[in-house]
Amino acid sequence: MALGKDYAAQECSIARALEVVGERWTLLVVRDALYGVRRYNDFLVHLGIPRAVLASRLQTLTAEGILEKRRYQQSPPRDEYVVTDRGVALWPTLRALGLWGREHYGGAPLRIFRHAVCGTELGAYGECPACGTAVPLGDVEMLPGPGLDPDPADPVSRALLRPKRLLTPVETDSA
Ligand SMILES: [Zn+2]
Repeated sequence: MALGKDYAAQECSIARALEVVGERWTLLVVRDALYGVRRYNDFLVHLGIPRAVLASRLQTLTAEGILEKRRYQQSPPRDEYVVTDRGVALWPTLRALGLWGREHYGGAPLRIFRHAVCGTELGAYGECPACGTAVPLGDVEMLPGPGLDPDPADPVSRALLRPKRLLTPVETDSA
């Protein structure tokens, strides 16, 4: 029996969400956008994703209002992809998913996320346990964890070795 390509028969908000973000690579593109990756080539080298697939995912995410395409250079024309409020709203899900992956499938932490104001590591949904507040992404500091490759090949991974705030554009050495 062939499986349908969508979950149209499901009356479920999770199924509805998966229609948008359930394809392979999609949530990783959103993750990178939250880390501050904005440019096509940066997504490409960081994710190691086939070009056609990346183009398709960026198109879907833009059409769904999760990323917004912005022109940052006129000649030659160059666009970047900036995460919208709708995309930012996926952060607690990604945070929880990351912790779930670590808890059930092991591995040393690759990245540490902490509340920049107080230095406390974020809770399972991106909240600060010490301050008792949801932490705005601009106040989340991302640091390399012990499981991260200290000498990665691509410039985006190298840039992400430095502590940075989420959403702040990634600055690669080549830029
Ligand atoms: Zn705090």
